[in-house]
Amino acid sequence: MDFKSFIRDVPNFPKDGIIFKDITPLLQSPEMLNKTTEALAQLVNGHKIDKVVGMESRGFIFGPLLASKLNAGFVPIRKPGKLPSTTLSETYDLEYGKDTLEIHTDSIQKGDMVLIHDDVLATGGTASAACKLVEKLGGNIVQCNFLIELTFLEGISKIEEYQAKSLLKY
Ligand code: IMP
Repeated sequence: MDFKSFIRDVPNFPKDGIIFKDITPLLQSPEMLNKTTEALAQLVNGHKIDKVVGMESRGFIFGPLLASKLNAGFVPIRKPGKLPSTTLSETYDLEYGKDTLEIHTDSIQKGDMVLIHDDVLATGGTASAACKLVEKLGGNIVQCNFLIELTFLEGISKIEEYQAKSLLKY
């Protein structure tokens, strides 16, 4: 199955010089939606997962589908001020500036087996911050799982202490 033919390159989005990998053509196909969920679940290789943690906002697309497939719960990680209850925050460096992510403190129980999921691994800052939040709450990271890895950005080096798998590499 040629997943890559359903991923569209959008030049100069969201800024000049960036070629954005757009997954919306893949999402439009019922067949590809199922096949992608199935293929992402297969990357987990039968490991027991209690919670799938997905990052705002495109981690909220396949995250819950994957959770349902793996018989796990889904936990959102969001930008500051979006989660309504008590949160834990993690701030990380961007190329220019900083960003912060938040998680509900009661969303992970100590010893939970956690799958981190996002659509794209780029520089790795988002995934690394997500892993830190989960570990601070006592979760065990089983795997970081991505639809797309932009290998030339070497984001994998920021999460090298974890098992990381991606369906598509560019
Ligand atoms: P990182 O923190 O640099 O690894 O960026 C990863 C985050 O940025 C993910 O949450 C992605 O959704 C988003 N992202 C970065 N590049 C792309 C892209 O080309 N397409 C879609 N999302 C992207």
